[in-house]
Amino acid sequence: MATQRSEPALRDERSQLHPFTSINDMKAEGPMMIESGSGVRVRDLAGKEYLDGMAGLWCVNLGYGRKEITDAIAQQSERLSFFHTFNNMSVDVVGECAEALLQRAPVPMSRVFFGTSGSDANETQLKLIWVYNNLRGKPEKKKIIARWNAYHGSSVATASLTGLPGMHKLFDLPKGPIIHVSAPYYYRNAPEGMSERDFSRQLAKELEETIEREGGDTIAAFFAETVMGAGGLIPPPEGYFDEIMPILKKHDILLVADEVVSGYGRLGTYWGCQSYGYEPDLITSAKGVTSGYFPMSAVFISPKVWDVLEAGADQIGVFGHGYTYSGHPVGAAAALAALKLIDELEVVKNVADVGPYMMQALKDRLGQHPHVGDIRGKGLMLGIELVQDRGKKETFPMQNRTGRQVLKAAAERGLITRALGDTLVFAPPLVLSRGEADEIVDKFALAVEDVV
Ligand code: PLP
Repeated sequence: MATQRSEPALRDERSQLHPFTSINDMKAEGPMMIESGSGVRVRDLAGKEYLDGMAGLWCVNLGYGRKEITDAIAQQSERLSFFHTFNNMSVDVVGECAEALLQRAPVPMSRVFFGTSGSDANETQLKLIWVYNNLRGKPEKKKIIARWNAYHGSSVATASLTGLPGMHKLFDLPKGPIIHVSAPYYYRNAPEGMSERDFSRQLAKELEETIEREGGDTIAAFFAETVMGAGGLIPPPEGYFDEIMPILKKHDILLVADEVVSGYGRLGTYWGCQSYGYEPDLITSAKGVTSGYFPMSAVFISPKVWDVLEAGADQIGVFGHGYTYSGHPVGAAAALAALKLIDELEVVKNVADVGPYMMQALKDRLGQHPHVGDIRGKGLMLGIELVQDRGKKETFPMQNRTGRQVLKAAAERGLITRALGDTLVFAPPLVLSRGEADEIVDKFALAVEDVV
């Protein structure tokens, strides 16, 4: 990417271990140094402009340089840069933020629990689920079902929950009480000729068989991203949640919606679960809650779980879980400003318009390309899977690193995308206009043609 190395790039490369980065690639290419941003665009240190097709890392939903948010951050930092929420302490703005979040929940929710990342929020979920069943006198009901290709975080427990074997093997992660079932990956995993609905039924059958094999009274919760993100941009096939919900209910298994990416408008509904008509017991959110302006996560706790915690208050004593920055006042101020903007700018409505428009533009432009196997997604969460042979869905040899080559070609053309293997993904800011969507599609199509 960066062809000539600037001093800042050299300094960065010799001092930082980068997350989710190949050490060899970093040595060979150096970092791409982003320096500023405005609206849906960022600039690198050399002054080259890029349309950010990934909203940073699926998070800068309102675009860069939003003064309403930076002002809120500055003002709160001046008033009170930090105080904590442990031991009965709080700050006005934090309670205000919690209330604003509850008002926006897709189903009635009783409490929110704050953290700073999607990973710590999912860790919180695991503890909530386990204490919930302890309090109900069901200490055996502790196993968690997640799916292959899922991404739920990078901490020890949440990387185990994540269904990407590379992340397990590298670190000898303890498997823990976690069971993975098949990904709802219709394009790759459905038998030839099977309808989406039948594929959903097949997945539901596998889920039920897994529960019965393990014993329903040992399974506590099922974790699901509404549309899988980092594991390959995989939307659920038709009827998926309709098929699995009754099975979870029947076996008294909590449904955790990981809405870290799909929350706050990305799918063209405020919450991802509203796009697919399912009702979670717990919701994990982060990223878009502050539009990436401040690290913050919010876990939503339904009355079903909260009532058990409240009734068990004597047994619990001090709820022994929390992070220094749980309920950070500056994060709360940033979130309040972001939530207000989501409403005022009618961001959800915009995604419901521009998302399908961009999907159609991708299909018009690349739908017949011999190396485009599948174009899929929902709202402004879109993926294009490249293949060597379209008819046979045959992948390119791994060593070709085709996805990465396209990513680099796109960057050359001033577009940031993300390569998940050979699936290129887009999760642009939700304030994207139709014209900017056209620009993404145009640059991307040229980049694909540059490479394959
Ligand atoms: N859950 C989902 C669905 C995610 O996409 C991510 C991050 O991309 C996480 C959890 C983890 O969030 P974080 O990187 O903030 O820990």
